[in-house]
Amino acid sequence: MEDNCIFCKIIKKEIPSAIVYEDDKVIAFKDINPVAPIHILVVPKKHIKSIAELKSEDEALIGKIFTVINKVAEEQGVKEKGFRVIANCGEDGGQEVPHLHFHLLAGRKLGEKII
Ligand code: AMP
Ligand code: ZN
Repeated sequence: MEDNCIFCKIIKKEIPSAIVYEDDKVIAFKDINPVAPIHILVVPKKHIKSIAELKSEDEALIGKIFTVINKVAEEQGVKEKGFRVIANCGEDGGQEVPHLHFHLLAGRKLGEKII
């Protein structure tokens, strides 16, 4: 946990969020500035800055995050129609919050593909 990290504060319930899933290792909550009808952030509780900071010991955690992404997609009713998962990494990747997170976007046709 990092004292001045906004996502650590959400994890510690020091600031409110709309939590849609939580277990001992992973939390998922609604993005405060949604760009799609479903926009949820899936976040490890461990403070890892970004994909670039992952260690081999985090491999199981990343696997778990994708299990949670599927679970949340199913619960939100978007698993069949589809969704997009985005993880911005570092400055050129456009990452604004330096605590690893995966955006789960769904609920509309996501047209603005860059790849
Ligand atoms: P990124 O640019 O990939 O680092 O994404 C950070 C995301 O966190 C943005 O989509 C923000 O809207 C979102 N965000 C920032 N603060 C909060 C908050 N307090 N609760 C929920 N989402 C937040
Ligand atoms: Zn953090």
